[in-house]
Amino acid sequence: MQNPEGHRETLHDMAAALHSEGLIDQLERFDMNEMADAAYWHAVEELQNSSGHYRGASTYDVVQVDNGKLLGTISRSIFNFSNTEPGIASSSYDGKVYSGPEGIHLNLGLSRNVGTITGLNLEMYGRRYQLIETQRMIRGVCHNPIDDPDSYRALIDAAQIAQEGRDLRLFEKVRPHIESAAFCICPACFDRFDARDDCATCAGKGFVTKMQP
Ligand SMILES: [Zn+2]
Repeated sequence: MQNPEGHRETLHDMAAALHSEGLIDQLERFDMNEMADAAYWHAVEELQNSSGHYRGASTYDVVQVDNGKLLGTISRSIFNFSNTEPGIASSSYDGKVYSGPEGIHLNLGLSRNVGTITGLNLEMYGRRYQLIETQRMIRGVCHNPIDDPDSYRALIDAAQIAQEGRDLRLFEKVRPHIESAAFCICPACFDRFDARDDCATCAGKGFVTKMQP
């Protein structure tokens, strides 16, 4: 599930519509909303345990893994080479990303499925590239990923308190920003209070920088 916040909102809207049409009573509406909230927390926990997912509404730099060279950018599914010479491209863009049941693929011009995207990795012509998110649409507004360590720390602390207290409104606000941030939870100590202080991987911070240049 790419957008658990949106999914939950849709379910709540549906319950409200069914209720206003008189098709379900107040108690059934309450039950439906409870189910939507439970599904939300479940989806969020799954997302926390998985690495990055490609998102059609985000903007990425496409960087070659072995040399760090910028190949191009993907912005809302449109791919452009970083060094396209003017006049060569016959269309206004170089390629397009398609998501389907068989996976996520990159088409270049008329060549279909030239690249395959798995997680935030692109494989194309035998080379591996990493997708680094540079912008994300959150509730209709474009945000740059948070790259300030203190802000990130504050966010994950707020999220933890919200999750423990099942505070949906606060958690929904902070989660997309945590997911798109330039940092991720330390894979060695998982930001666990007892293990964090002696952790060499994150130097006791509990989180590390996502991008490995
Ligand atoms: Zn650590």
